[in-house]
Amino acid sequence: MSKEQQAVACARRAFETGRSKSLEHRIRQLKNLQRMFTERQKEIADAIKKDLNKSEVGTQLYETLGLEGEISLAIRKLKEWAAPRSVEKNLLTLSDTVYIKPEPLGVVLIIGAWNYPWAVTIQPLIGAIAAGNAAVIKPSEVCVHTAKAMEDLLPIYIDKELYPVVTGGVPETQELLRQRFDHIFYTGNSVVGKLIMEAAAKNLTPVTLELGGKSPCYIDKNCDISIACRRVAWGKYTNCGQTCIAPDYILCEPSIQDRVIEEIKKSIKEFYTDNPKTCTDYGRIINQRHFKRIMAMLEDSTIAVGGENDESDCYIAPTVLRDVKPEAKVMQEEIFGPLLPILSVSGLDEAIKFINKGEKPLALYVFTSDDKVIKRMVDETSSGGLLANDCLVHYSVSSLPFGGVGNSGMGCYHGKFSFDQLSHLRSCLIKQLKMEGVNSMRYPPHTPKKLGWARFFILKTVDLGWVGRMALLAVLAVVAAVVLQNYLL
Ligand code: NAD
Repeated sequence: MSKEQQAVACARRAFETGRSKSLEHRIRQLKNLQRMFTERQKEIADAIKKDLNKSEVGTQLYETLGLEGEISLAIRKLKEWAAPRSVEKNLLTLSDTVYIKPEPLGVVLIIGAWNYPWAVTIQPLIGAIAAGNAAVIKPSEVCVHTAKAMEDLLPIYIDKELYPVVTGGVPETQELLRQRFDHIFYTGNSVVGKLIMEAAAKNLTPVTLELGGKSPCYIDKNCDISIACRRVAWGKYTNCGQTCIAPDYILCEPSIQDRVIEEIKKSIKEFYTDNPKTCTDYGRIINQRHFKRIMAMLEDSTIAVGGENDESDCYIAPTVLRDVKPEAKVMQEEIFGPLLPILSVSGLDEAIKFINKGEKPLALYVFTSDDKVIKRMVDETSSGGLLANDCLVHYSVSSLPFGGVGNSGMGCYHGKFSFDQLSHLRSCLIKQLKMEGVNSMRYPPHTPKKLGWARFFILKTVDLGWVGRMALLAVLAVVAAVVLQNYLL
């Protein structure tokens, strides 16, 4: 048995004991996870520093703070989320108990990416635990030190049989994908996303795919360009541009391009000093393979700001590219690095057309003081999320579903959405063996009169208080008696 098979078998056995289902167990595990982030902050930050040169404060701000918030929310709301959810009834089911019961799916495979390794791996785990599942956790091998930290720390804090960690690269992930799971939650690029779906299809395993793509950013000439550019610069250069929802490129009218460049340059200096290379808040490209990939995108574009780089240190300065053509290399794939191309459009109409020509993005940003511009973007485009006059922050709102659409992914999570995504929402209808008369309308011989009754009973939905329900029940009893007399006696 391979170590991957062993991990899956172990998680399956542990799930079958039934212990992951009890709410006390789920809450205990979530509290332990919370404790890990308090007690091991230093080890977590040290590992990320080695992987991506993130500062300790940056790690808390962009990774662990959000996780702590999600854990607290899940602990606070779990009883409510896991409770049976009553639903509206029609007249036929008025006297029945009709509800949705969220139940665990079983064993979930979580495959993480490297750019915010804790956030994208632990956030689905919070949902898996809250929903009562077992989970096999596969951190990205690309963030070497963090993967090791997860392998070492998680078993100390949470049930290591229910939530085993498997480390390794592509062969190990592929071996995991040959096993049978009840859900696969993948974060990463869309090429691998397709492989995940293919593997999942063999067992009809449902998938959540958290992918990326080119997230556009339209800056309207009618806005405070200085503030807009400050927010765009923050969204772009945080984590050295290696953020799935970073604004990938800017669309604006040629008349404001110079101003946009100047303002972004000012913000780069404000955030990262004159020399970002020595600034503790400026990250590094994850490895030399990605460094080369990003540098190759610069070939046919004009640098307006930045461009300095150092391969031995995986450093690329915050860079702005001007007058970029749609055919340029930098526009052919998600950049996932600190290059910010600016493309000219004649106005909102052309921006919308340009966005709609591409794949549906994970995020879409619009900066404007004109509500009509925002409304047109909302109405005339599609994306995983849309943000007006800011970048990234929608990720931090637990009441918003986070996820892509089309090429940027499927399924969503955060807050209650994580719980629902990793639960089966089971339909339950509990009837008594009484009032058989009402059923006569569905039994053969079928007649137009019975159909008439069926139309009345089925098409009426009921939204009444209990007094109304009691009155209706009484009416229903009379109707049942009449029907009984007409058809059965
Ligand atoms: P990655 O290289 O770490 O790959 C992700 C996972 O896929 C890893 O665990 C790896 O082992 C596995 N993997 C890689 N190749 C595989 C193969 N051939 N078969 C099976 N498994 C394989 O991460 P990445 O893909 O470079 O991550 C960057 C991408 O992820 C970007 O496109 C980014 O936009 C996206 N992303 C999306 C989100 C989101 O929440 N939507 C978050 C972070 C990153």
